Amino acid sequence: MATAPLAIVWPCRLSVAEYAAAGKRIEVPAQACPSCGARLTAWSGYRRWLRDDGEYRIWVRRARCPTCRVTHALLPDFVCARRLDTVEVIGAGLELGVAGAGMRTVAERLGLAHSTTRDWRRRHRARAPALLAHLAAVAVAAGAELRDLPTGVEAAAPAALGAIAAEARRRFGGRVPGLWRLWNAICGGWPLGTNTGPPLAGSSGVAQMG
Ligand SMILES: [Zn+2]
Repeated sequence: MATAPLAIVWPCRLSVAEYAAAGKRIEVPAQACPSCGARLTAWSGYRRWLRDDGEYRIWVRRARCPTCRVTHALLPDFVCARRLDTVEVIGAGLELGVAGAGMRTVAERLGLAHSTTRDWRRRHRARAPALLAHLAAVAVAAGAELRDLPTGVEAAAPAALGAIAAEARRRFGGRVPGLWRLWNAICGGWPLGTNTGPPLAGSSGVAQMG
């Protein structure tokens, strides 16, 4: 049985073009093993395509836990595991769709295949309830309140994430990544994964926001 590759999403301040231009020289902050906390060591990487305002060939670093002997892909926060499009492109499409545009119209506007945008929306719809429940728990644990969320879970889940990010920014200051990058981070690089895929990445996406 094929298992989903393990991924760690890290907050990246570079634009997609800057990231792509850096190639193998890309510098990734040190990461800890999600299972045991050990510091990961560099472990080569792989090339993949990424579609944003154009198509880019990017280098994704890998890192390995010396204790668990497991490797992880280190995804910059705009890259989703096994998705060609950046998370900002996907997020823009979902926003249009949730606001009422048909996914065929969204596809035309973004210059993408209808099957692609339709799949995003299906996955988002299936995944949003679990994400919203998770975010509600994160909010309770942080002593924050989620109020005035839009009706409809597809709109409410990103709105809840935005509210938690705003609260974190208010309390701790610092730079907080854009909403869709955050969405990718909290979903561990699989924001459109199936419900049987890797679990949500705890509150680590929010914890990384400093
Ligand atoms: Zn480990």
